Amino acid sequence: MSLLDPTVTDRPLVDIDLAELAAISRELETKPASAALRWAWERFGDDIVLAASFQDCVLVDVASRAAPGIEVVFLDTQYHFAETLWYVDRVRERYDLNLRIMEPLVPPDDLWQTDPDECCAMRKVEPLARALQGKQAWVTGLRRVEAPTRASSPIAHLDVGRGIVKVNPLATWTDQDIADYKRDHDLLEHPLASQGYPSIGCWPCTRPVEPGADPRSGRWSESGKMECGLHGWSNP
Ligand code: SF4
Repeated sequence: MSLLDPTVTDRPLVDIDLAELAAISRELETKPASAALRWAWERFGDDIVLAASFQDCVLVDVASRAAPGIEVVFLDTQYHFAETLWYVDRVRERYDLNLRIMEPLVPPDDLWQTDPDECCAMRKVEPLARALQGKQAWVTGLRRVEAPTRASSPIAHLDVGRGIVKVNPLATWTDQDIADYKRDHDLLEHPLASQGYPSIGCWPCTRPVEPGADPRSGRWSESGKMECGLHGWSNP
């Protein structure tokens, strides 16, 4: 088995009835994001992990109320902006996060210049696979409006490639919903958010965008790449 092949898993499928999971997901469609997190927290307890990108802290804030103490994972690719690392520290302090930082098994290199898919596989997908070992479910900040590849994502479903449940509490949220939540809850802003970076990933693959442009158009803007591999192959 290749350590870096995210599509290979030898774990048994999580023990959950798929019809029941689909019904729960449909029910959660019309409920607040906190309901999805509360359901997942009660159903899976310590066997769940929340993967946070730290481009904002909306999901972390919702989780701090609905699933206090949930393990939060940050994938430190070694190519994050200094502002993102600063932000992770501030959010960790503010919420007293149960934070686990995952690093790649390889040192910094130039692969992002020649093979970004493989770079993401080594710096994001493989570290996440390690973080999910022994877990039954994971929570993501994925939203349907972010990309056509995400448009049909359910609130909760079986992540087929990983054999565990994937929960997307913010799936139905628009960009305006995110802005409203940040304002209403006085959330800490990522320092780059006000500098033209509505979507923030690694510095080599993130550019500022013009006002009004597609928020994700600054990601991998010089290639046709749209996904880092964390989500692309796991939709139902
Ligand atoms: S976003 Fe860019 S730098 Fe970051 S892991 Fe992917 S290819 Fe590498």
